[in-house]
Amino acid sequence: MEIINDTSCGWIDYNNRKSKLKTLNKNLKCDYLIVGAGLTGLSAARKLSEIEKNKNIVLVDAQRAGEGASSRNSGYLVDTTLNDGFTSERNLKNYKKKVQLYNLGIKTVKKFIKDYQVDCDWNECGKYFASSKLKDERKANEFSNILTKLNYKNNILYQNELKAKLGTNFYKIAVYTNGGILLNPAKLILSMIKALPENVKLYENTLMLNWKKFNNSIDCSFKNFNIKTKKIIFCTNGFLSQLGIKKRYNFPLTLTASMTRRLNDEEFEAIGRPKEWGVLPIRPMGATIRMTKDRKILIRNTAELKNPSFMNGLDLNKRALLHYFGLKKRFPSFPKNIIKSTWSGVVCRSGNGSQIFEKIDDNIFVAGCYNGSGIGVGTLFGEQIAFMSSNQFSEEISIIKDKKKPSWLPPQPFLNMGINLRLFYERIIANSDI
Ligand SMILES: Cc1cc2nc3c(=O)[nH]c(=O)nc-3n(C[C@H](O)[C@H](O)[C@H](O)COP(=O)(O)OP(=O)(O)OC[C@H]3O[C@@H](n4cnc5c(N)ncnc54)[C@H](O)[C@@H]3O)c2cc1C
Repeated sequence: MEIINDTSCGWIDYNNRKSKLKTLNKNLKCDYLIVGAGLTGLSAARKLSEIEKNKNIVLVDAQRAGEGASSRNSGYLVDTTLNDGFTSERNLKNYKKKVQLYNLGIKTVKKFIKDYQVDCDWNECGKYFASSKLKDERKANEFSNILTKLNYKNNILYQNELKAKLGTNFYKIAVYTNGGILLNPAKLILSMIKALPENVKLYENTLMLNWKKFNNSIDCSFKNFNIKTKKIIFCTNGFLSQLGIKKRYNFPLTLTASMTRRLNDEEFEAIGRPKEWGVLPIRPMGATIRMTKDRKILIRNTAELKNPSFMNGLDLNKRALLHYFGLKKRFPSFPKNIIKSTWSGVVCRSGNGSQIFEKIDDNIFVAGCYNGSGIGVGTLFGEQIAFMSSNQFSEEISIIKDKKKPSWLPPQPFLNMGINLRLFYERIIANSDI
């Protein structure tokens, strides 16, 4: 097992990552070992170093820190989501709890950005939940009513208004919500890496192979060396099940996205010089598409069961073609070579959309499984799992614990069969909105 990512993510400034790389080069003993240096692991390490100033904290990642999903996402820091089954009155209570977590997540990221003076192209421009089919009007209205009941400002927009805002005729209806932020995920994660304090030792390209608990310590094996730790926090998200963590409650999905080059003046003019915007699909497998503040367009329209550790160049090119078709539908005048970068990333899903935040055994903790919305909740869970692992309590922990736990998943091969069937069905339903 190895995690090999493509090096073509449009967000990551690979030149900026030439900082010295430290890989595990000897056996170690520590008080806390955090596995996975994405949003969750970095937030856990940062917070833990404040709470446990005199403890020895080690953070490891199988690749460069932050270069997993945390840099590769679409950059929507959401306050509300639509496609998770909460579109009816009946589920209002559950939905309330869900958005409460999203909003705590936003608060946590906002505080980090303020404390560390982070520039990550933060834009509180809201977002559109949109569809190219007018028959989704009912779903849009139901969602809008729920948002209104929960005091989230929103309004319904139709084709002409959307054309003026987004520069495309493609969408017929959308719910616009004022809340939610667009940001550059790689800039955010880089600032979290830079914010790591002295008492956290980071080892990159350091893949954990195995772990075993003995009385008062946990023995972890890597390629050539071992780490013995008193406490461990698993923050490997899409790779939790590979390490045997909550195996029957989460599974990985591989997503791919592409980003265009910067639109030239003529192209930008032709679509009406829109301001930065972000569209999420009303239909679950529809495309996520956004225009960045520097006039690039990002599209993500695939989600599949695939080896989470690796996607080869040929597979990536096939996905890039799907992204191109998605762009062409929305912006027919775009030339064929407009896509500049294409990449894949892994998310962690549960059967019922719930996240994982748990002590799974004495001294063993896990936070993850954000079902594709992890920028805010991942940062929140990272900080809060640091409190929990050091036997502290917080109001946020009680709110997190009050949420539904992930549901039990069937064993293989039934699980994969079920997931594939569901994805296939959702692709058919999403149809033209992909
Ligand atoms: C294409 C895409 C678009 C997305 N869009 C959005 C969005 O718009 N908004 C949003 O909120 N969320 C989005 N997400 C989801 C979001 O990126 C994740 O929820 C979030 O990054 C999870 O952070 P994390 O730190 O828990 O996991 P990750 O960032 O995945 O970090 C886990 C780390 O663990 C490491 N690791 C795994 N196994 C091992 C091991 N054995 N040993 C050592 N290290 C290991 C990995 O290398 C990785 O760096 C998107 C994800 C993708 C892929």
